[in-house]
Formats: sequence, C-alpha cells, structure tokens
Amino acid sequence: MSVVGASPRQAPAATGATGRAIRRVCVLGATGSIGDATLDVIARHPDRFEVTAVAAHTNVRKLAQVCRRFRPRYAALGDATAAQALGAELAADGLPTTVLAGAAGLVAIASLAEADTVLAAIVGAAGLASTLAAARAGKRILLANKEALVLGGALFMDAVRDGGATLLPIDSEHNAIFQCLPAAYARDPATAGVRRILLTASGGPFRAWPAADLEQVTPDQACAHPNWAMGRKISVDSATMMNKGLEVIEAHWLFGVAADAIEVVIHPQSIVHSLVDYTDGSVLAQLGHPDMRTPITQALAYPERITAPVPALDLARLATLSFESPDLRRFPCLALAYDALRAGGTAAALLNAANEIAVAAFLAGRLRFTDIAATCTHVLAAVPTTAIATIDDVHEADARARDEARRFIATRVDQGTVTA
Ligand code: NAD
Ligand code: MG
Repeated sequence: MSVVGASPRQAPAATGATGRAIRRVCVLGATGSIGDATLDVIARHPDRFEVTAVAAHTNVRKLAQVCRRFRPRYAALGDATAAQALGAELAADGLPTTVLAGAAGLVAIASLAEADTVLAAIVGAAGLASTLAAARAGKRILLANKEALVLGGALFMDAVRDGGATLLPIDSEHNAIFQCLPAAYARDPATAGVRRILLTASGGPFRAWPAADLEQVTPDQACAHPNWAMGRKISVDSATMMNKGLEVIEAHWLFGVAADAIEVVIHPQSIVHSLVDYTDGSVLAQLGHPDMRTPITQALAYPERITAPVPALDLARLATLSFESPDLRRFPCLALAYDALRAGGTAAALLNAANEIAVAAFLAGRLRFTDIAATCTHVLAAVPTTAIATIDDVHEADARARDEARRFIATRVDQGTVTA
C-alpha cells in the first residue's frame, strides 16, 4: 500500500553500477535523531541511494560534517545567519554544495526537481511548510514529521493526492500498520475488512509511577526513555503520552480510520510496533527491535526489502510480551488528543501548539511536568476551535494557541507553582 499513491512526477532516476535506479533523497531534519538514523542507512546502500539535499535549523557544525561526508548538491538551514556561516565553511572546503536559507530555503529544498524522495523529519509545526511543499511537488515522502498531519489533516492529505505524491510512514507504529494492511489499501477500512487499529505504546519512563510523583519529574528523567533513543521533544511527549495522542490523530489521517476504531494498548517491551484487527478475527502485527532504522529502511526501499543494521529478533530470549490498557487519569494528554480529533477543525492544531510551548518551558525548567497537560487543557478551553478552509486558518490557530499557552505558563510561574 502506498497510503496515497501515484508515481512521482520527476524524471526517471539515474541508475547505479548495478543498473538499479538510484533514489535521490532530500533529508529534512538531517541533524536530528531520525536524520542520523536515515543517513546511517543510506551510507550502507550507496548503490541504491544518494543524498541530494540536506536541511536543518541552526546546527552549522553538524550539517557541515554531513555535507563533507555525503557531498549533497544542496543544503539549507532555517536560521539565515547559520546558513551564511555554513556557506562560508563549505566554500572554504571547496565543496560543490549550494546553500539556501530560511523558511523559503527549506521549502525550495523540499521541492527540488533533482530529488525524488523527501525524508520529512523536522520536529514540530516547523516542519509543516516543507512537508506540504514536498506533497505539492509530488515527491515520495517518508513521513516522520507527524505534526504535518496533526496540523494539516485533510489539507495535507489533499495536497498529497493532488500533487501525485506517495506517503510512506516512518513513525514506527504507522509503519507497522502500513506493513499489516493490504497492498491495495485505499484509506477505506470497511472495504479492506479492517475492524480496528491497535496502536502500541511503551508507556514511557513513568508508566508505573504513582500519579503524585509525576509533579517532581525533571527533564532528564522525562527524556530517559526505557526503549527508544529520540530527540528531546518527542521523548517528553512519550513520557506524557501526548506522543501517542498525536499518533492517534496521525493514524486517523493516514489510514482513514475513525477515532473510535483506533485503540491504544500499552506494551512496555516495544517489540510489537502496532496491529491491525480484521473483521474475520485475524490480527496482524509487525514486530522488531525498537530501532528506527527498521521502519526507515522499509520505507526507503519499499516495495523491496533490503538489509538494515538491526539484529534478528530472538523471541525465546525476549520470553515475555505484555499488554495493558492505558491509565488516562495519569496520562490526560492521551484523552485530550482523542477529544481534539473528535472536535475536528483547528482543535488538533491548538493542542499541538500548546503542547510545543509547554514542552519547551518544561525542558527549560520553567514548568512542571504535570502542567504540560494543564497548559493544553487551558488552551483548548480558551481558544475557540474553528473550521479549516485554508492553511492560513491553521497558522492562525497555531499562533493564537502559542500566545495563550505562553500567557498561561507565565501565570503559573508568577503564582510560584514553579521556580522560574
Ligand atoms: P530531533 O530534535 O532529534 O531533530 C529535529 C530536527 O529538526 C533537527 O535536524 C533540527 O535541526 C530540525 N529542526 C528543528 N526546528 C527546525 C526549524 N525551525 N527549521 C528547520 N529545521 C528544524 O527530533 P527527532 O527525534 O529526530 O524527530 C523528528 C521528527 O520525527 C518529529 O516530528 C518526531 O515526532 C518524529 N519521530 C521521531 C522518532 C524518533 O525516534 N526520534 C520516531 C517517530 C517519529
Ligand atoms: Mg511512534
């Protein structure tokens, strides 16, 4: 299944020494955790993939290292000053890389005629414009930036369809579901005999903690995920279970499944990455080590299978795979995400923006862990949800929610509930 499929519009790819077409990949978020994992996979298959372009936010030193290693034709940094520094550094090294800058640079990189595949791995709402540009340009999109779907929803899926793009999910749960659905799946669960989607969640580092202890959680504790090594923002989201909430919304848009037919199951070992429950009673699952290089390799090579640097699964050694229901009282963010999905319109964008601001304040030591959910609850109640007609409606909701979240957090600090 390509979630929404069509053949990309670009000219046919060049062929490598083996006569096989080489995929020309643009890596958005090249300095992050998913970017690292993707570049590692690509480096192991030089006969199949070439890094055509890379983009990140401010990290000149790391993006310069990536450019020296992969020699892409283009690089972009969202921060214009950093882009200037990168340009100077690469020119001094005599590298042939053209450097672009700012939001427009990211969009240009995402729609390059020279690339056929775009890895969308910028974190947060900051990734929306470039991911949308890749959709409009008809790229083969490897989607890690779940926020593009949470914010853009129907608009993003329409852009994928109208642009003739192909969407391949990288998020491990959605990649698992993708692998468990029939090849011809067309976002219609009834026709495919799909009863439910079961999204697994590790439960994060605080799965077994008493609710009363959660107030004192520190950023480092929240980022110490038991099974996955990830960027700090998504690590905090895993600890609050907001990540699973955003993934419920992501699954809704990717697979056309209603909120009531998406169930979250806690699975602390993170071996079963998600399941599809069919009306005939069959339940299909995808299993693997918790290593993002498996879903990334699957999507990069799809529909072929190629090797990933991940050991074979030893089931006897794992011995136990366990499952339990989530405790929504201790993890209210999950319930908030279901509510936002059911409310529709800009509700999910409001939730995402409030959460981004709250997580940043928590990571900066300015907000308690439990106040992340309080901030999101407040913003969803204070900012009205409206219908989405154009992407401007999304940007406006995002901006209003950020303002309201900042105001709310300032009152928490003033009241002395946290030390600023
Ligand atoms: P990260 O923090 O490690 O990396 C984020 C990347 O985004 C960096 O390259 C950074 O430079 C770039 N970036 C941030 N703000 C930007 C901006 N304004 N303009 C341009 N670039 C910007 O994050 P990550 O863990 O790699 O996650 C990336 C995305 O993948 C997120 O949407 C996350 O939800 C999703 N995801 C991650 C994992 C994982 O295992 N890390 C798993 C599933 C999904
Ligand atoms: Mg995930």
